[in-house]
Amino acid sequence: MGKLDNKIALVTGAGRGIGREIALTLAREGADVVLNARNLPNLDQVAAEIAKLGRRGLPVAADISRKPEVESLVNSAIETFGRIDILVCNAGITRFAPFLEMTEEDWDLVVDVDMKGTFLCGQAVARHMVPRKYGKIINISSTSGLGARNETMANYAASKAGVNNLSRVMALALGPHGINVNVVAPGVIRSEMGLTRRTPEEYEAYMALYRRQTALRRVGEVQDIANAVLFLASDESSFITGQVMVCDGGLKDGLLR
Ligand code: NAP
Repeated sequence: MGKLDNKIALVTGAGRGIGREIALTLAREGADVVLNARNLPNLDQVAAEIAKLGRRGLPVAADISRKPEVESLVNSAIETFGRIDILVCNAGITRFAPFLEMTEEDWDLVVDVDMKGTFLCGQAVARHMVPRKYGKIINISSTSGLGARNETMANYAASKAGVNNLSRVMALALGPHGINVNVVAPGVIRSEMGLTRRTPEEYEAYMALYRRQTALRRVGEVQDIANAVLFLASDESSFITGQVMVCDGGLKDGLLR
């Protein structure tokens, strides 16, 4: 028996990295999973892997920063499965620039996907959860949302701090309807995201720096985050809501460059 037998989950940003691993982990525990990202080919591959686990994966392309696309994503999920029990709002992007050089476009892009996208998905899905008096919402933020760690991340740090507090308010609003809302805040996790602004050599140097700055002396793996999400998606965490679960290997305070 799985921890999520016959549950229906929706995972945004499920095409690669952390979101892909979350989707596979939920499926291994018995859930059928609606898989979202902007590009279908990656989602099709994840759906094929989920089919091998004996569960159903439904790929739906949508940009979570656009309300009509979020509505059509949620409608597709409801039309196919009739309900959504678990929402994991994981999709996120970065656009790094020193504060004085950050453009309005870079600011808007990151805030729109990372923070507004979390609001749009949470609201659209919660409207279907409320009448059923059941739901688990897990938003993915970042340790960047907990303090000032890097001066090139104003857009990202502000968005992720916003996700943390948005989630606390969602927990207050949705708790009376039987819906838990929590956050997983990852530290540095090995995924393609970290390579977007670095050469492979710079990336390895960054990983080495992170290892030295954490109590557990290691970088996170995507499964570490999927395990935390699984706990918050299961009924084992039924009395936990409005919390930010930091999953960073014990990062010391200070700047990460
Ligand atoms: P990733 O490897 O870059 O994957 C991001 C996923 O999100 C992709 O599937 C991408 O697919 C999708 N996506 C991007 N923009 C989207 C949009 N507008 N609408 C829908 N889907 C979109 O990132 P990751 O490392 O797995 O990170 C996942 C989450 O963890 C993010 O929220 C990130 O901020 C957070 N996080 C990551 C780390 C880390 O070290 N990796 C640390 C802290 C927090 P498409 O491009 O096809 O849309």
